[in-house]
Order: sequence, then structure tokens, then C-alpha cells
Amino acid sequence: MKSRVVILGAGFGGLELATMLSEALGDDIDVTLIDKNDAFVFGYAKLDVMFGRTTPDAVRFAYSDIAKPGVRFLQERITAIGPEARRVTTDGGVHDADVLVVALGADYDLDATPGLAEAGNEFYSVGGAERLRDVLPTFSQGRAIVGVCGAPFKCPPAPSEAALLLHDYLSARGVRDECEISFVIPFGSPVPPSPDTSRALVAAFAERGIEFVPDRRVRSLDPGRRVAVLDDGSENPYDLFLGVPKHRAPDVVIASGMTEDGYVPVNPKTLETRFPDVYAVGDVATIGVPKAGVFAEGAARIVAASLIARLRGGQEPGAYDGLGSCYIEFGGGRVGRVDVDFLSGPKPTGTFHEPSDALVREKHDFGSSRRARWFSS
Ligand SMILES: Cc1cc2nc3c(=O)[nH]c(=O)nc-3n(C[C@H](O)[C@H](O)[C@H](O)COP(=O)(O)OP(=O)(O)OC[C@H]3O[C@@H](n4cnc5c(N)ncnc54)[C@H](O)[C@@H]3O)c2cc1C
Repeated sequence: MKSRVVILGAGFGGLELATMLSEALGDDIDVTLIDKNDAFVFGYAKLDVMFGRTTPDAVRFAYSDIAKPGVRFLQERITAIGPEARRVTTDGGVHDADVLVVALGADYDLDATPGLAEAGNEFYSVGGAERLRDVLPTFSQGRAIVGVCGAPFKCPPAPSEAALLLHDYLSARGVRDECEISFVIPFGSPVPPSPDTSRALVAAFAERGIEFVPDRRVRSLDPGRRVAVLDDGSENPYDLFLGVPKHRAPDVVIASGMTEDGYVPVNPKTLETRFPDVYAVGDVATIGVPKAGVFAEGAARIVAASLIARLRGGQEPGAYDGLGSCYIEFGGGRVGRVDVDFLSGPKPTGTFHEPSDALVREKHDFGSSRRARWFSS
């Protein structure tokens, strides 16, 4: 009988895992890939949608286009996960697995920040980005705050990019002089593992008159007074709030009993959970790397290589290396890159690559190559 691999979540991690298994094993394996949505959207595309640089339809890649030997995609909502029995319940039925991989990402907990749901706008979901696309044109004067409500959060450079792109957006509309932009982040610098990247971002904020407020988290919003309250109790008035909500593992993962301190602990070298033949990759897992697509993808590759070695015979992969590169929009169409190494040394390190035309092309290729790889047969 073919091995049944059930992959929960068709994001960066789930898509890469299904692709690698299909490439290596084709119809010799039975892969079920489950997601509640009908399409995948790259995280960074949310910034493009919110600033009207593209349309929501243009950034959706339909799961119905996945046509890979050995892989079956099911659009179902997962309602329960039994890690001991490797049994998954969805709104469409029950799925039993020989190997279960949890790749359900991180959800947003808007209620953890009082006032955010009523008085703020989040730009971390597709829905939030779409709403902002309609809200931003109505903002022509006053104070905008780009604020992070809790760490860890996905793609640490993303809120810095949002502040810089907001500057561009308001400048293009000729209203930048009537507006202030303030950026609140609970880290001492925008990208802590890379002082060079952080210096370049802080310089970019200063050049554009963006106020940088490090080491602070937005604790709550007061809708009546339109004030953001930070974790030191200080009050910051705003006319437009663009928020990164607090993150947490999806409820169904928490209810499964797999989490500790909010996320699923795994062996950082192999991505194995404490349950036999159950793995967790990407934002849902605690590994010691940031919550970003490149890291989810790298972890998925290790799990895929290990399963391929097990089923085909062959060499087990080396340990997961915790390496990844993130592109950073600096505004004005400029794109830089930071290469980060989270696991090999005593502390994370990062190398900064100055914005260049080559990196603009590289970021474009990053998206298009994955689209081609994950969504073609
Ligand atoms: C604004 C922004 C910019 C970003 N920029 C970058 C970037 O430039 N580079 C980068 O590498 N990363 C970036 N990221 C981060 C990146 O998007 C995530 O870290 C990455 O998607 C995580 O991959 P994952 O596979 O762990 O989870 P996800 O890609 O989030 O996939 C999880 C999947 O699980 C599904 N799911 C969840 N619950 C259920 C359920 N109950 N039933 C069925 N399905 C379910 C979801 O629908 C989702 O498709 C950015 C994120 C944001 C928000």
C-alpha cells in the first residue's frame, strides 16, 4: 500500500513539501494537501494590494491549478487534529495519515489588542489589505501610525516596508507634507540580526521624516479618542492606524494539544514533533527562526528529503540550517535583501545587500519561480 502523507495547510511550507514529494515519488506516494482557501497569496503581495499597486485577483494562485502526480488537493476546513492517531477531521470528512505534516501557519488575534478590530486597520491578511486599499485614499492629512501589536510576527521587515511605501503613496498623491508617519516596533532595531540592514532602514526613515519608535509595542487603541496606547503607557494620537496584529497558532492546532507556549515545539534539526510521524513546519512551529515563507520552505524541504529517503532508501538529509533571504522594499521601487543565518552560530547574524536593480529582478523571480514550480504539473 502507498504511504499516505497528509499535509495540513497549502502555504509556503505545504506547497513546497507536496511539490518535492511529487517530483521524487510521483504516483508511488499518496499525498493529500488540505487548505480551507481556494487560492494561495504571497505575503508580500498584501503590501502591493493595500497600496493599489496590483489587484487582489492578480495575486491569487488557484489551488485548482495544482496538477501533480501523487498529490490531491482538498479545499476543506480542518476542525480537529489527533496527533497520536494521525487522524484529521475536516468539514469534508476524516483523513488518516501514515505521516502527518502540520503547516497551518500563524493566525491573527485581533482581540488581544483592545480597539484594533473597531478602530484600526490590519494589513497582514488579504481581507485587511483589500479594505485598506479603499481606506488609504481617504487619508490626506494628519498622523499615521504603522504599529506592531506583538512579537513574534511574520516577516519582521514587512512593517518597515509598509512605513516606507506609505511615504511613497502619500508623496505620489501630493499630500505627504500634510501627514506625519510614525513607526512603532517591539525590537531595538528594524531587523535585529543585521545591524547593517537596520542602519539602512533607520537612515531611510530619517530621510523621509518617518518617526521611528523602537522597543515599543502597541498595547491598545482607544477608538473614542483615536489614541494608540503603547506598552509603556504612553499615548499617541492617530488619524490612520496600520497594524500588525498579535499572532498565534490556529485554534485547531492549540486544541490538538500539540502546542507549548503558543506554537508547536519541534526538533529544530528534523522538524519532528513529539508525536511519532507527525512533523510541523513553518510559522506554526517553534524552531528559533523568524516567521517567514523562506524558512517555512526550507523546513519543508528537510521533511520532504527525509520522507523520500525513508520511502526510496537513501541518505537522510542533513539538519535544517535556518538560513533564509528576505527582500526589503525601500520605496521608490528599490529593493534590498538581507541573508540571515539563525541556527549555525551562538546568535543570529545577517548580511545586508544594498538595493539594486538586480534585486528588483531577483524578487520578481522569487515569486514567479515558485508560482511555476508549485502550480504547474
Ligand atoms: C505583509 C507580509 C509580507 C511578507 N513578506 C514576506 C517575504 O517577503 N518573504 C517571506 O519569506 N515571507 C514573507 N511573509 C511571511 C510569509 O507569508 C509567511 O511566513 C509564510 O506564508 C508562512 O508559511 P507557512 O507555510 O508556515 O504558513 P502559511 O503560508 O500561512 O500557510 C498556512 C495555510 O494553512 C491554512 N489554514 C490555516 N488554518 C486552517 C484550517 N483550520 N483548515 C484548513 N486550512 C487552514 C491557511 O489557509 C494557509 O493557506 C510576509 C507576510 C506578510 C503578512
